[in-house]
Formats: sequence, C-alpha cells, structure tokens
Amino acid sequence: MVPLPRFQLPLNGPPSGYGWEECGIPAPSPSRFKIGVHGRDSILGQPRCVICGLSGEMVKHCFILKGRSSYYWNRLKDSNWISSQIRNTCTEEPHTGLLLCSNHHVLFDKYYFFIRYFPEVHKFVFVNYSDQPDQQQFHGKAIALDIKDRLTPYPSLFVLHEMRVRGYHPQQPLDPDVPDNISWQDWISDGVLKSDVLKGRNVREVPDTPPCASA
Ligand SMILES: [Zn+2]
Repeated sequence: MVPLPRFQLPLNGPPSGYGWEECGIPAPSPSRFKIGVHGRDSILGQPRCVICGLSGEMVKHCFILKGRSSYYWNRLKDSNWISSQIRNTCTEEPHTGLLLCSNHHVLFDKYYFFIRYFPEVHKFVFVNYSDQPDQQQFHGKAIALDIKDRLTPYPSLFVLHEMRVRGYHPQQPLDPDVPDNISWQDWISDGVLKSDVLKGRNVREVPDTPPCASA
C-alpha cells in the first residue's frame, strides 16, 4: 500500500494532469446528458453502475457536482475547471455525470467516498474515504470509466467532489492508503466484460489493458 497524495490548496484551477485539455477531452460533447451518459456507461448491452456493475432499474444518472446554476457553472468555466465551450449547466453535458446504482448514488451524493483519477495509469479509482466497512471491497480499484471515451467525465470535477468529501470527514487521514498496483473492480476483472460475442456491436467494453502500477 502507498499513501494517496492530497492536492495542495488553494486550487485556483485543476491540478496538473487533471485539466480537460491535458486529458484530451473534446468540448462540447456531441451528446445530451442522459443519452450520452446512458450510452457511455452501458456495458455488454446494459446500463450499469460503473462501480459495482449492477444493472436494472436501480441504476440512475448522477451528477458529479450538485451545483446546477448557470452562475456556478460559469465560475468553473472562468477558472478552466471545465471547457468554456460546453453547454450552460451540468444537466446538459455528459462530461459531468455517470451512472450509479441507488446505493452508490446516495453514498456519492452524501460524500462517503470519492473517485480519484490516476493520470499515470489513466484509471478512475474508488476511494472509500469514510472507511465504510461494506465499501472496502471497492477501495483502491479502478471503476468502469475510460479517459479515452469521447464522453468521459471531467477528472477535474472529481477533484472538486473529493474536496467536499474531505470536508465532511475531517477526522480521516489526509493521505489514505491505496494499493500500489491498481486493479479493476472484481466484476470487471472477472472477464465478464470481454465477451467476443458482442464485439463489433454498439456496446462499449471496459478496456482490457492490464492494470498498471501507480507511481
Ligand atoms: Zn453500485
């Protein structure tokens, strides 16, 4: 295990490696929010929670940040957290959301955990910052998001969400331990997502690149 480094405050813009331009994220995205997120986070033909892989009616769209006013969104544009060219609010932009099951949606919105992008290995990683026992199985493992997807979420927005999570849990260690080798979540590494049957269809597969060592 290695300590997860914290971001140095103040953050007047996205940290190095987390800017939308550095990540190669196009803007604006060509899709509307729900259609874009639904398609991007559908895996093997089913919309799924990108953390636990659950599919079905319990899976819903989730905004990375709840502030939805144009004023709030324009402030993020002005400080280059997001592209100045995207639409006016997060409710219109696939780069600002993800699919989660009802359980993870609640825990995400109530700041029990955060998602940290690892630029070195191009992975989005679940961090169980509040140390919930039932979430430890997901801790330090990569979730089903791909930075190379044209609709990928902004890593910078996860940084801002992380700041909120840290504020809700001031008693927690500032640099929680994470594995020094980042593996996929168990449901991804089981091979379930690598079916040859669906190749070539309009179904996104989780990239099958081997998990890489973090810096
Ligand atoms: Zn879930």
